Amino acid sequence: MDRSWILVFLSFVCISSAANASEGDVDPLYRICIEQCGKTGTVGASSVQHCQFSADGVLVDGPWYMQEPLYVQWKQWNCRSDCQYFCMMQLEKEREELGLRPVKYHGKWPFKRWSVLQEPVSAILSALTLIIQFNGWLSFFLLSSYKLPLRPQSGRTYYEFTCLWHVYGLLSLNAWFWDAIFHTRSFDLTEKLDYSSSVVLLGYSLILAIFRTFNVKTEASRVMVAAPLVAFLTTHILYINFYELDYGLNMKVCMVIGIAQVLLWAVWAGVTRHPSRFKLWVVVVGGAIATFLELLYDFPPYKGYVDSHALWHATNIPLAYLWWSFVYEDAEFRTSALIKKTK
Ligand SMILES: [Zn+2]
Repeated sequence: MDRSWILVFLSFVCISSAANASEGDVDPLYRICIEQCGKTGTVGASSVQHCQFSADGVLVDGPWYMQEPLYVQWKQWNCRSDCQYFCMMQLEKEREELGLRPVKYHGKWPFKRWSVLQEPVSAILSALTLIIQFNGWLSFFLLSSYKLPLRPQSGRTYYEFTCLWHVYGLLSLNAWFWDAIFHTRSFDLTEKLDYSSSVVLLGYSLILAIFRTFNVKTEASRVMVAAPLVAFLTTHILYINFYELDYGLNMKVCMVIGIAQVLLWAVWAGVTRHPSRFKLWVVVVGGAIATFLELLYDFPPYKGYVDSHALWHATNIPLAYLWWSFVYEDAEFRTSALIKKTK
């Protein structure tokens, strides 16, 4: 996706998991249910297989290799996650019978699982976006490696942003990968990896947006622009990982970085004579509107599956395609302009 929409998207990702304590998980009935589930491995009539531990935390059954500390840790993560799911479902069923509307748990609506997928629609759409991102980056890679003419002296492309877009492609694949994993199963670890990857992509996208829209080409000026932003982003990532995952603060940071990119690209698309400026417009405006609507209409999942975040994910698929298409055409356009200049 474009950085602007990426930013937007990232902001949304950051936001989407915001709010640690929610109406559902502060309910004393939910807390009691979780506690009992962890001890007994049962919620109502259903038994939670991952919670079958002996008193000292060792698995009750299983061969020696299943007694390894890492495996036990894995079981404990799954035990907690499964207890949260079964307790949430039990309470939501009771709420429905009383005619009450669904509430959020740990910042998320009650989604129905499908197979191993915790939020199946968002996870699948996120994985599809990952494929589109890979496809876009691969096309750009083939263009810059085999199709574009190279400078005779240095052997590099005429297009000055080739390497920056390759890094962007890798960071983007990383961010979408962890988002798909986070929607598949949310643990502390997958949550932090998703948030951190999103912040890295969003921050890098802002740097890239500044470089491209202001046409920053020399190494010295690029370092001067990037250094303060990298310092700030590093501090923020260390803070959310090792001090406190403050969802509200993280959302504000993501929003500011996201809005800055959207404005940069939107103004640039408005003043430039670039032949692909309309594609850029669609991505920037489309991404901004999708994110705005997602935040505005945060409705509980329809039939337990489709919420506003899932719809937001759906819009990202065509936007990701358009974004890489803009990058591809930008490289072609800049290259032919530079070649004309040197003749
Ligand atoms: Zn997502």
